[in-house]
Amino acid sequence: MKITLIPGDGIGPEITESARNIVDALDIGIEWEVVEAGEAVFNQTGTLIPDNVYESIEKNKVVLKGPIMTPIGKGFRSVNVALRKKYDLYANIRPVKSLGTIPSLTKDLDLILFRENTEDLYAGVEKQISDDEAHSIKIITRSASERIVREAFEYAKVNDRQSVTVVTKANIMKLTDGLFLEVARGVAEEYPSIEFKEILVDNMAMQLVINPKQFDVIVTENLYGDILSDLMAGLVGGLGLVPGANIGEDISIFEAVHGSAPDIAGKGLANPTAILLGVCQMLDHIEQKDASNRLRNALDTVLSDSNNFTKDLGGEMTTKGFTKAVIKAL
Ligand code: NAD
Repeated sequence: MKITLIPGDGIGPEITESARNIVDALDIGIEWEVVEAGEAVFNQTGTLIPDNVYESIEKNKVVLKGPIMTPIGKGFRSVNVALRKKYDLYANIRPVKSLGTIPSLTKDLDLILFRENTEDLYAGVEKQISDDEAHSIKIITRSASERIVREAFEYAKVNDRQSVTVVTKANIMKLTDGLFLEVARGVAEEYPSIEFKEILVDNMAMQLVINPKQFDVIVTENLYGDILSDLMAGLVGGLGLVPGANIGEDISIFEAVHGSAPDIAGKGLANPTAILLGVCQMLDHIEQKDASNRLRNALDTVLSDSNNFTKDLGGEMTTKGFTKAVIKAL
């Protein structure tokens, strides 16, 4: 099977090289079609996503993507947001799970966040009203809310999870968040065996810090999901450990939650675990469950030895050294 590989910016080439070597070691017949998007291509061609990237994605349907930087300010649209919108990748699924013996605030955590991926303030509908006023429009639709909430409940059902918690700020944004909550309540009624909980996003941020194990599956809007999943990554040891799947009807893109980490790029310090867990999500998606379990177990073994910890985990292991250790554990 051929998979599109976008190395991306900053630490992207280093962590995707690691992913590629490890998948090759799994020896399950995956071939890569490497296409470039992001800053380097922009500097050469003036476009962040050249046409051959779209062609490759549309042909192969499954994509492994390194992080791509988004220049802050006017005139640039995030490549990530553009791809999510173009291919209607409506579900952003972020598992947050404790691994090995990584020093972390919480042990044995196993949460999964379903983030709506196509609308909300992320739709980027902004307007300059005057020199001292700008507006950003929050868009929430019944149909997009329903499909992400349903995705979360279906996951909970198939994977025997106990509860689904919907996170909003419906007390303040009565129409938009109110709609999301109303839809969630309706879908929840169809799944009587799964406990349904509602919580406001500010309280959620605190509860995740003081008692995260009260949660299981979490479903929320785009911006809250963006922020809460970074917070959740912090609970299990940091951004280097959490992957994200962007799922649409036809096309799916797998990546790490973190960005291009320009502060450590090119130094061999990046922790590839997040993208490797993204590879596990990808392998599950293409029905290679045996291979994804082998890789998850290898990561757990490697991350149970502090000699293998990269700098973000308080160790000295390099990206290449970590990759070798995972291949050995496989
Ligand atoms: P970031 O996630 O790149 O980095 C935040 C901190 O975490 C940095 O100190 C970094 O060194 C560290 N870190 C991140 N990933 C790591 C890893 N694998 N191993 C070790 N340390 C790691 O966030 P940022 O600095 O706010 O963003 C940088 C750029 O990335 C921005 O242009 C942003 O738009 C982009 N970004 C892209 C994506 C994506 O492609 N999906 C996601 C988020 C941010």
